[in-house]
Amino acid sequence: MIELAQFQTFRVAASDLNGQMRGKRVPGSYGTKLEGGVVRMPLSVLNVDLWGADIADSPLVFESGDADGILLPTERGAVPMPWLERPSAFVPMAMYLEDGQTPFGGDPRHALARVLGRYAARDWRVIAATEMEFTLVDDQSDTLRAPRHPRTGRWISGPGILSMPLLDAFDDYFSALYEACEAMGIPAQTAMSESGVGQFEVTLMHQDAMRAADDAWLFKVLARGLARQQGFAATFMAKPYEDDAGNGMHLHFSVVDAAGANIFDNGGPDGSDMLRHAVAGCVAHMPAASAIFAPHMNSYSRLVPGAHAPTGAAWAYENRTAALRIPAGDPEARRIEHRVAGGDINPYLVLAAVLGSAMQGIEAQAAPPDPISGNAYERRDLAQLAADLPTALGLLENDMAMAEIFDPLLIDCFCRTKRQEMRHFAKLDPNRHWTTYLERV
Ligand code: GLU
Ligand code: MG
Repeated sequence: MIELAQFQTFRVAASDLNGQMRGKRVPGSYGTKLEGGVVRMPLSVLNVDLWGADIADSPLVFESGDADGILLPTERGAVPMPWLERPSAFVPMAMYLEDGQTPFGGDPRHALARVLGRYAARDWRVIAATEMEFTLVDDQSDTLRAPRHPRTGRWISGPGILSMPLLDAFDDYFSALYEACEAMGIPAQTAMSESGVGQFEVTLMHQDAMRAADDAWLFKVLARGLARQQGFAATFMAKPYEDDAGNGMHLHFSVVDAAGANIFDNGGPDGSDMLRHAVAGCVAHMPAASAIFAPHMNSYSRLVPGAHAPTGAAWAYENRTAALRIPAGDPEARRIEHRVAGGDINPYLVLAAVLGSAMQGIEAQAAPPDPISGNAYERRDLAQLAADLPTALGLLENDMAMAEIFDPLLIDCFCRTKRQEMRHFAKLDPNRHWTTYLERV
């Protein structure tokens, strides 16, 4: 645990609906006062658009007089900020109403806590892991391009799936990234060169689901910040280049009961009935949650046939064309890999949507459709994910299951935010949209 008093100042922030950190720099002496609610911020701050502007018609701004909420530290605790030149500390926060106890319904981290509470009520714990895909880019000209090779100075080219020379080329970056993850308590596992130009993936080890979400949130800030120290940018945009691989954030999860047993494990390769109920919920509610998995206009360029990103709501054993994959291997590790979300998501909302959908299936003891085999892109009979953001928002705000999973206030604020962003993007040159997304998603 970091001693906050050693810093003249440190940072506190919570996640807004887009996953951006919103907060303040506060005196070191606040370290001992955080639990007392010394940090206040307008509730509406967690519901601003990508550019940080208020939502014009938000019920949080004018109807309620733009009231303050109280930020309290989360159980994640203080972490260092190794992407800054000077030693600094950051305390992740969550937003509460004036009484200091009622969670603010528009806070995405509370949305996940609410879903996890449904598991805790059964004495269950969700274990989750994320695969973080991102692209290193050179953003110094009008169009985005691959970064320069740090040793040769020439722009890298060509696909680099599992390339060792590319890992060597960016060794300074990845060594710094691993050191920083260690310092921040983020359990980074494997790093590899992915199939896109300049695209890499770092997997984070499975752990308690809230901690996994916190770590995915922190990892994105870290990966972007360290890239800047090395003279390039890192982006989690779902589709940095129209005709190259997109960035996904695959989520693996299982559920353990009070005795520590994995409820998805039946001792064999198929997994338990509980696994099938969870799958059924995820398949059934996947189209309605499209906007959570693909929250930006750019996200929809990724969800196209043949890109290893799903288009239809299907599940399968060991099949990467399906949205839900049940990986083979040791039955005790039986789990669901949810492959829909882009890298450009808010991890709290994605985990809430996935785990909430799984719980809907479990509660209803729902039966899933048959698992598919072969190429999911060729299946015309599957329910499809929304094809664009306006469609996705319509599905989200009219869905009964989503209304049970999320606070209605959050869904309302989310949809208003996205619609304001779309209106603003419509005024901008489409060739320059990437400048907004690059380090904000
Ligand atoms: N990059 C792909 C995506 O957009 C995933 C590739 C993979 O299977 O790891 O989700
Ligand atoms: Mg991958």
